[in-house]
Amino acid sequence: MSEALRAQVFLNGLSSSFEAQVGAVGAFLAGRQEIKVISYVTLVRTFEESPKLGRYFGPCQERVWLKADYFQPERLLEHIKSYEGDLALFPPGLFGAQMAGRLAARLKGSAVLNLIELEVGARLLAKKYVYSENLLASLALKKKPYCLALSKEWSAKGHEILWQEKFTGSERWLELEPDGLDPDALGPDGLGPDGGRPEEVRASGLDLAKAQALVVSGFGLGDPATLARAIELAQRLSAEWGVSRPVAMNAWAPLERLIGVSGAMTAPKWALCLGASGAAALLSGLSQAQKLIAVNLDPEAPIMSRSDLAVVGQAQEIIEALNKLLA
Ligand SMILES: Cc1cc2nc3c(=O)[nH]c(=O)nc-3n(C[C@H](O)[C@H](O)[C@H](O)COP(=O)(O)OP(=O)(O)OC[C@H]3O[C@@H](n4cnc5c(N)ncnc54)[C@H](O)[C@@H]3O)c2cc1C
Repeated sequence: MSEALRAQVFLNGLSSSFEAQVGAVGAFLAGRQEIKVISYVTLVRTFEESPKLGRYFGPCQERVWLKADYFQPERLLEHIKSYEGDLALFPPGLFGAQMAGRLAARLKGSAVLNLIELEVGARLLAKKYVYSENLLASLALKKKPYCLALSKEWSAKGHEILWQEKFTGSERWLELEPDGLDPDALGPDGLGPDGGRPEEVRASGLDLAKAQALVVSGFGLGDPATLARAIELAQRLSAEWGVSRPVAMNAWAPLERLIGVSGAMTAPKWALCLGASGAAALLSGLSQAQKLIAVNLDPEAPIMSRSDLAVVGQAQEIIEALNKLLA
C-alpha cells in the first residue's frame, strides 16, 4: 500500500472518558506514517468546549464539532455517512464498539472491534483476540471503509496527551437534531441511565453468563420489530434475552446482548433460539445450556440437530402464539 490511508477519528466528548479516548487514539497513531488523519469528528455538549477539547488532538486538516445533548447513534451515523475516508477510527469502549460495528454494517465496509494492531503492507491486516481471548487473529481487511475500534490496551499505553495551542486547519460546528429520546433517562454522557459509571463497568453490568433462562434471537427474525416481540416473550417467561452477531451488528440490539465466542458464554437451564442457524461461534456460548430449543424454517440448520427440541416453523408466528398464550 503506497499511499497513506486517509483516516477520520471519531470521539465522544460527552463522555467522562474523553481523555482516555484521545490518549488511546494518540498512542495508536504515534509514528504511523502510513495513516494520515484528515479530520477529528467530536460530539460535544456545547460548542464552547471545542477549543479546550481540540487541544488534545494530533495534526489534521479539519475538526468537526457535533453538538448533541446526549449520544444519539443513529443521528451520528447519518452524519458520518456523508464523510469520505479509507479508515474510520474509534476509541476503546462502548461508544467506539457500537459506532464502528454499525458504521461498517451501513456502509458495507469492514469492522474490527478491540483492535490490537494494524499492519499496513501489501495487505491490510488487523489483529484482535478471538475465541475468548485465546487466539490472536490476523484479519485481512478488504472492503472500505475500514471501521476500527481500538482495544482498551491502547488506553493503558499511557500516551502523552498532546496539547496544541494553535490549530490552522478548517473547523465546522454542526448541531445534531434530537432523536426524540429522553436525555434525562440516558444519563450524563448520553450512553445509558447509569452513564456516570465508567464504560467498562456499564458494559458488563448485564451478566448473561448468570441467566437461568434465555431467549436468543437470530437474524432469521427479519427485523427489529420482531426482535421486540421476542424480548416481550422473554420477559413473559422471566427469561433474559440475547442475540446472535448479525442482530447486534445491525444495531437491532446492543453488543452486550451478544451470545457466543465474541460475547457472553452462558449456562442457562434452558435456551430458546429463534431464527438462528446455529453457527459454532454462537453455539459455543450456549454449550452449557441444560436444554436447547430451536425454532427455524430450515430443518437442516445446524442448530436443529444440536437441540433437545427442534421446531420447524416461522419464528414470528411462534413468538406471536406464545405471547398470546402467556398474556
Ligand atoms: C471470529 C468470529 C466470531 C464470531 N462470534 C460470534 C458470536 O459470538 N456470536 C454469534 O452469534 N456469531 C458469531 N460469529 C458469526 C457466526 O459465524 C454466524 O455468522 C452467526 O452466528 C449467524 O447468525 P444467525 O444464525 O442469527 O444468522 P444467519 O446465519 O443468517 O441464520 C438465520 C437463520 O434463520 C433461519 N430463518 C430465516 N427466516 C426464518 C423465519 N422466518 N423463522 C425461523 N427461522 C428463520 C434461517 O433458516 C437461518 O438458519 C462469529 C464469526 C466469526 C468469524
